[in-house]
This record gives sequence, C-alpha cells and structure tokens, in this order.
Amino acid sequence: MTASEKLRLITDSLSEQQKLSLIEVLTVNVNKNRTKCRCCGYLTLEGSPQENAYDICPVCFWENDGCKSDEDYSEPNHMTLGEAKQNYIKFGACDQQSAENTRSPMYFEVPEFYG
Ligand SMILES: [Zn+2]
Repeated sequence: MTASEKLRLITDSLSEQQKLSLIEVLTVNVNKNRTKCRCCGYLTLEGSPQENAYDICPVCFWENDGCKSDEDYSEPNHMTLGEAKQNYIKFGACDQQSAENTRSPMYFEVPEFYG
C-alpha cells in the first residue's frame, strides 16, 4: 500500500469532527512566531525578524536581508526585491538557478490557513 493510499484510507475513515480535531493538533505548535518571506509571501521564516535575519527561504530561496520595498537592492541576493518577486512568479524561485533547491509551501506556511 502506498503512502497516499494509506492517507486516503485514514482521511476517508475520519468524521468531520475528527478531521477538525486533527487540524487543531497539527497547527498547535506551528502557527506561532513565524515571519512572512518578503519575496514569496509564505510564512517560511521561523522566529522574529531579528531571529531570522539572513535565513534563506526554502520556498523561493530569497535570503532574508531585511529589504522591504521592491526597489531595494539586496547585496546577498544580487538583485532587487522586485526582480526576485518577478523571478518567483516565472521560475518558482528568486532566481532561475535556485529553482531546483526550492520546495512547495507547507500548509502551515500559507497565511490564509490561519483565516
Ligand atoms: Zn520566500
């Protein structure tokens, strides 16, 4: 049995109430203290903006150097934040070469998940 078949078997057997309880358990420790990536907009950076300075976003590979506006040139990323956002739309990464190093956002990194 594949992992996705197991997952379907589990989710099909749960009541709506059990599914909601499961979501609560899964989110209880992950929704605290996360910062939105300035490039892709997902909540990928753990901790406060001071704590995650210069962390690299796993979804778009932008190095969080504190750039705020699209016109800001980022030395570590070698481009402006605006260029990085355009690249993310085009390649799924802040630059084309980094596309193979990125991953899809996790459910708890999607801001809309928290309502
Ligand atoms: Zn990002």
